[in-house]
Amino acid sequence: MENLISLVNKLQRACTALGDHGEDSALPTLWDSLPAIAVVGGQSSGKSSVLESIVGKDFLPRGSGIVTRRPLVLQLHKIDEGREYAEFLHLPRKRFTNFAAVRQEIADETDRETGRSSRQISTVPIHLSIFSPNVVNLTLIDLPGLTKVAVDGQPDSIVQDIENMVRSYIEKPNCVILAISPANQDLATSDAIKISREVDPQGERTLGVLTKIDLMDKGTDAVEILEGKSYKLQFPWIGVVNRSQADINKSVDMIAARRREREYFATTPEYKHLTHRMGSEHLGKMLSKHLETVIKSRIPGIQSLISKSIVEIEAELSRLGRPIASDAGGKLYMIMEICRGFDQIYKEHLDGVRSGGDKIYSVFDNQLPAALKRLQFDKQLAMENVRKLITEADGYQPHLIAPEQGYRRLIESSLITIRSPAEAAVDAVHSILKELVHKAVGESMELRQYPTLRVEVANAACDSLDRMKEESKKATLKLVDMECSYLTVDFFRKLPQEIDKGGNPTHSLFDRYTDSYLRRIGSNVMSYVNMVCGTLRNSIPKSIVYCQVREAKRSLLDHFFTDLGKREPKHLASLLDEDPAVMERRTGLAKRLELYRSAQEEIDAVAWAK
Ligand code: GDP
Ligand code: MG
Repeated sequence: MENLISLVNKLQRACTALGDHGEDSALPTLWDSLPAIAVVGGQSSGKSSVLESIVGKDFLPRGSGIVTRRPLVLQLHKIDEGREYAEFLHLPRKRFTNFAAVRQEIADETDRETGRSSRQISTVPIHLSIFSPNVVNLTLIDLPGLTKVAVDGQPDSIVQDIENMVRSYIEKPNCVILAISPANQDLATSDAIKISREVDPQGERTLGVLTKIDLMDKGTDAVEILEGKSYKLQFPWIGVVNRSQADINKSVDMIAARRREREYFATTPEYKHLTHRMGSEHLGKMLSKHLETVIKSRIPGIQSLISKSIVEIEAELSRLGRPIASDAGGKLYMIMEICRGFDQIYKEHLDGVRSGGDKIYSVFDNQLPAALKRLQFDKQLAMENVRKLITEADGYQPHLIAPEQGYRRLIESSLITIRSPAEAAVDAVHSILKELVHKAVGESMELRQYPTLRVEVANAACDSLDRMKEESKKATLKLVDMECSYLTVDFFRKLPQEIDKGGNPTHSLFDRYTDSYLRRIGSNVMSYVNMVCGTLRNSIPKSIVYCQVREAKRSLLDHFFTDLGKREPKHLASLLDEDPAVMERRTGLAKRLELYRSAQEEIDAVAWAK
């Protein structure tokens, strides 16, 4: 049974280490479901004294006014033998054997969170573990004392702030309330009773402790209260006699104080019949037993909460994507993986698994033929233009047989105009390929997660596409130029008779410049140009696919990868700087998940051992 309390102790420490003090509502909390005992009461009601006498040590900061300004989670661990020592969660490897130093550290650590002069309070708990053969396993939370007015420079809100903090702890159904009331004040004025009644009207989880019994007016006693006649709680009231201020000043030690307390109850006639359930020692044992019972009853609930939360956290984590690797190699690998994913999506667009690649075909099937059609060779080969070019080509000496030079110039000047639709086709496909980069970037979940990498990948892909476009332009225009540079001789040989007539030397020299002669030349050139146009209509797409589409599929990010290998680790890290909010959320969730997983293991181990 004892290990139940140490189990909860362990879980509580894990909670604080991983930032779960039950106040961050954005994340699931385990803290809230763990049973604990919180000490509440007015200032100077004797809370610290009760805690110290349960522990059997002086270790809490003292002073007038508000000393406890942060919750103190005090975990008592019984050890079999050895010297007693204390440890703070925030100073993991430091063992305190001097309890005056513990007191100082509590004060210092309080100031670290709240600021020394501010007199502010904070809800972030301090965790203190005490290991001793003289304690029982127990977890207690010391809270700031309830006050009525703000004093010495405290903000006016302090009274309410303290009350809210105390309430936030004790309103949880898993919290056992140790309500401290001084016997030398009317119970009706007890802050502890007032606030605990609010959150636990039936008194089902409130343990009443009456302090300062020794200070009651002569002739009065606490029997009515201790017997539960004044104010009924489910559990019997416990009376204690702590050290007075005079005792403390005289450094009366705990052992002596406990002995005196025992004697007090044993020898005071009014309380003789209650002795067996009075005093600090009894209080400690009773609390420990009670806490165990509470924990035991809560374990199934905690187990189901944990498994439910694990499922929820895992689902959200997978929505948020993987965390970033910490070392340079891991980062590089991760970037490559993400890029490969993007590359895959990009290919799927081109291959028709995803939409958008079909637009390229539309360039070849509609745009290019339409542009070729619009070239208007008929204007170029109108009779007047034919006459002009032929005459110019003849120069000072008219041609004798056929206007060889004139033909060539006519053909070249027509074919050269195909360059511009060819170029336009290259550009059109280029902009489709670019558009698909942006589409694929948006569709990659991982790239969406890392804005910097997304920009760099998109830029690198577009740079590659630019290079491919230049190559493609060169190759495609070369196709056109090649057609210009060498004419298909066969075509002219196979032309019908008229051409022979046009070149018939028996015709008079002047016949050669008649309209019908020139028209014939025009139509011959036109049919040649149309033939070449048909060829280019087929070969331009081949060149474009070869230089741009196929290359984009093959090596879109090659340059980027080469570059990546040369980068500094720092630069790699900057590529993976995701949205800070997402990063924070993931870190928070991952920590919680770690907490829940280890909690699950620990609880299962204890629950099965039962
Ligand atoms: P806290 O503010 O609630 O933590 O109260 P403390 O534990 O600091 O106690 C306030 C004062 O009351 C101190 O001077 C204690 O010595 C004194 N005191 C507390 N309990 C008792 C008691 O049972 N008997 C006597 N005589 N004095 C007590
Ligand atoms: Mg105190």
